[in-house]
Amino acid sequence: MEKVILDGRLVAKNITERLIDRVKDLKSNGVTPCLATILVGDDPSSETYVKMKGNACERIGINSLRIHLPKETQTEDLLKVIEELNQDNSVHGILLQHPVPSHIDERKAFESIDIEKDVDGVTSTGFGQTAFGFGKFPSCTPAAIMEIINFYKLPVKGKHAVVVGRSPILGKPVSALLLNENATVTTCHSYTTNLPEMLMQADIVVAAVGKPNFIKGEWIKKGAVVLDAGYNKGNIGDVDYEGCFEKAGAITPVPGGVGPVTISMLLKHTVDAAESTIKYS
Ligand code: NAP
Repeated sequence: MEKVILDGRLVAKNITERLIDRVKDLKSNGVTPCLATILVGDDPSSETYVKMKGNACERIGINSLRIHLPKETQTEDLLKVIEELNQDNSVHGILLQHPVPSHIDERKAFESIDIEKDVDGVTSTGFGQTAFGFGKFPSCTPAAIMEIINFYKLPVKGKHAVVVGRSPILGKPVSALLLNENATVTTCHSYTTNLPEMLMQADIVVAAVGKPNFIKGEWIKKGAVVLDAGYNKGNIGDVDYEGCFEKAGAITPVPGGVGPVTISMLLKHTVDAAESTIKYS
């Protein structure tokens, strides 16, 4: 099999191109999709992510409402802001940038997002729907991973997928999505005692660890599909790309892999959310 570099920029372009006409249609019906982003505090990486998301909205004609709250913001203040956005009919998607400062109850804040506007699948209802297989808005990075798999027509049914990481926004939902597509899924975490052995059995590897260059080439089975969701300082993924490249049958680079598709999925979910307001009002 020829080795494939899974080009996230190409997948993202394909998704956003299809959105442009849908945005035009919505506008001609008097609706401009709007994504509200909430950033609490001044973490430079989070600031960059939020800026990238806002800019991506503007590139396809979607409004972005950027709310930047001071790091001293309390949970109750944040809940009030989210409630206002829930009530605002001109806002179709709400994204609370993770992580928020540690004194804030992040789970409570996520849970307060209206399910119809939960375009990043952060509520427990959204997660539950994803797990049951009928969710409208799975978390964007897991959704991006599935988009890459679908774009390149990579086989999933009956394959053994090993996901490294079990966070609520990434490891757990991507495990659920792969399971829904009939993969046999193993989800690993920091208490997994035999990670290299697990990975050696994997036809599909999803790296969602948050540790630069963590997944080594010698842990990968020849021909495996390697999807690196990691994004660490200095544009470094969770996969040791050089080491894994030789063994993998298909691999996402960092940057230019999962990241750009994640942003496109956020745009897609916001457009989907805006369209449902027309259909059901
Ligand atoms: P997270 O909440 O910190 O979760 C990391 C997971 O990795 C945890 O489940 C943890 O296990 C597990 N882990 C840590 N050390 C491990 C080890 N030695 N062996 C096996 N598992 C281990 O991180 P996250 O938010 O899911 O993000 C993961 C990565 O994805 C980060 O690099 C982040 O920047 C990136 N990310 C990228 C995008 C994108 O758009 N591309 C979006 C979101 C996140 P425990 O549960 O046992 O602690």
